[in-house]
Amino acid sequence: MIVAIDGPSGTGKSSTSKAVAAKLGLSYLDTGAQYRAITWWMVGNGVDVDDADAVAAAAGKPVIVSGTDPSHPTITVDGADASGPIRTQEVTSKVSAVSAVPEVRAVITELQRSIAADAAHGIVVEGRDIGTTVLPDADIKIFLTASPEARAARRSGEVKGSDVAATREALIKRDAADSSRKTSPLAKAADAVEVDTTELTLQQVIECVVTLVEERRSGTDGEQRRDAR
Ligand code: C5P
Repeated sequence: MIVAIDGPSGTGKSSTSKAVAAKLGLSYLDTGAQYRAITWWMVGNGVDVDDADAVAAAAGKPVIVSGTDPSHPTITVDGADASGPIRTQEVTSKVSAVSAVPEVRAVITELQRSIAADAAHGIVVEGRDIGTTVLPDADIKIFLTASPEARAARRSGEVKGSDVAATREALIKRDAADSSRKTSPLAKAADAVEVDTTELTLQQVIECVVTLVEERRSGTDGEQRRDAR
């Protein structure tokens, strides 16, 4: 069972994906953390993130390892724990530039596919292009959305002392960059189920996604679709 969960920032992708994976006994992969990790490496190694050629030339250098236990996801770069540093404002502001470089996407996409192939009991993979590009044959694809206001409120609740208006501007800017890049932009796959989380609690989103996955797993969603015809 491969579950692809895509959507912009602040829609509850990570919290939902981790909880769904834990509930259903699946592995979990946060692909945004991998793009953040490669960005952190670029910054730490003096690569100018606005120089796409320099980023491309270095794309294959860092060794990124993701731990896929949903109750304890981990990420290391060249053996060092990167889970804290990848969440800094500096990395967040630079990740869209790095993730737009095709050579970076090629390296990270290959890594994501091999992790998904190795997940013996199935996996929940969250990101921006999982349903469209990384795992187009996923068993179920979910696209989470929410209003910019709801997304900014959630994100600023996560980061101590942050300002909602500034968070909203930063989110909109990052989503615009992620949606407009040439190589596998943030997009809803044609066969994805869209869930608008604006008015839902996290618990409700988790229940909704678990139900969708269970229906797909038992084949009952197909029956319902046939019945509806
Ligand atoms: O999900 P998160 O906010 O941690 O993602 C950080 C960034 O990584 C995104 O803004 C985007 O630039 C990039 N990303 C991507 N493709 C994915 C996941 C994340 O380009 N599948």
